[in-house]
Amino acid sequence: MKQFGDICQFKIPLIRNPLKYTLTYFIKSQNTLIDLGGESEEAKDALKRQLLAADSSLSKIEKVVLTHLHRDHSGLTNYLKENSNATIYTHYVSRNYSIENNDLKELILKEFYMFGENSIIFPKIILHQIQNKSSSRSEAYVSLNDNDYLDSDKRFQVIWTPGHAPEHICIYDNQLKILFSGDHVLPRITPHISLHINEKTNPLKDYIESLEKIKKLDIKLVLPAHESEFKDLEKRVEGIEKHHLSRLEEIKDTVRKGEKTVHQISSELSWKSSPWGFMPFWIKHMAACETYAHLIYLRNRGDIYESIKNGRLYYKI
Ligand SMILES: [Zn+2]
Ligand SMILES: [Zn+2]
Repeated sequence: MKQFGDICQFKIPLIRNPLKYTLTYFIKSQNTLIDLGGESEEAKDALKRQLLAADSSLSKIEKVVLTHLHRDHSGLTNYLKENSNATIYTHYVSRNYSIENNDLKELILKEFYMFGENSIIFPKIILHQIQNKSSSRSEAYVSLNDNDYLDSDKRFQVIWTPGHAPEHICIYDNQLKILFSGDHVLPRITPHISLHINEKTNPLKDYIESLEKIKKLDIKLVLPAHESEFKDLEKRVEGIEKHHLSRLEEIKDTVRKGEKTVHQISSELSWKSSPWGFMPFWIKHMAACETYAHLIYLRNRGDIYESIKNGRLYYKI
């Protein structure tokens, strides 16, 4: 186990997930955990074992701070509640989640249509995943606000960084000059920025503004929730900004050739995972929602035009 001052880094395995593990952080002096990990027996064992190795235990945990509510971070919430008296904290916007399972299925079907697909078969496994997703979001949490402190000594500061998720927060340790970055900034992977048709937000704009917010902090070390710790935050932020700028240009080039749907545009973009035509249902949908987030950013900036014909979204320059 790696240690940075009084902070222990735990590796919590993720089952059937290419990210392989979530990095959670145990602040010994505060009996506080930052993030938890996805739900599985392996993850529960790993958390228990690593707490013991850090001379602690589940029952001693007083606070759990979730950087955001994605299942690979919040999946062990019930396990913690059952085995400790810990208070679970998240940013206050997470209170707005109330999509029911059926609504979520309807939403995805509608999205596939609006994005340009003619007929789709909804895989059973996806229905199962949706149900799990909703249940992990129905917890009661204690709300945090931007600039709140986790402790009375004002060492750990909350920085609201919406974009990857509307409720995403980073925690800044102003004593050790450490940033707990969650999924906001990872050393190699670019965090997924996506938008759904029922959301009237502009997550890419939020994300870019959130990058600017942390870029100039006095930071010696970044402790992210995946991959590994790293040092040069400013350089990494600039790399991510560059990636989005070139993606926006790529999308503009695509619509320059004519009016297109979200799926038509997505099919012409380069994807790291696999080409568009070979993507499984869920990956394809995530990719389309990512394209849509970029399109809304460009539309709001006045770079491209959006129209709706027969219930379908079209974009042109
Ligand atoms: Zn996430
Ligand atoms: Zn994550």
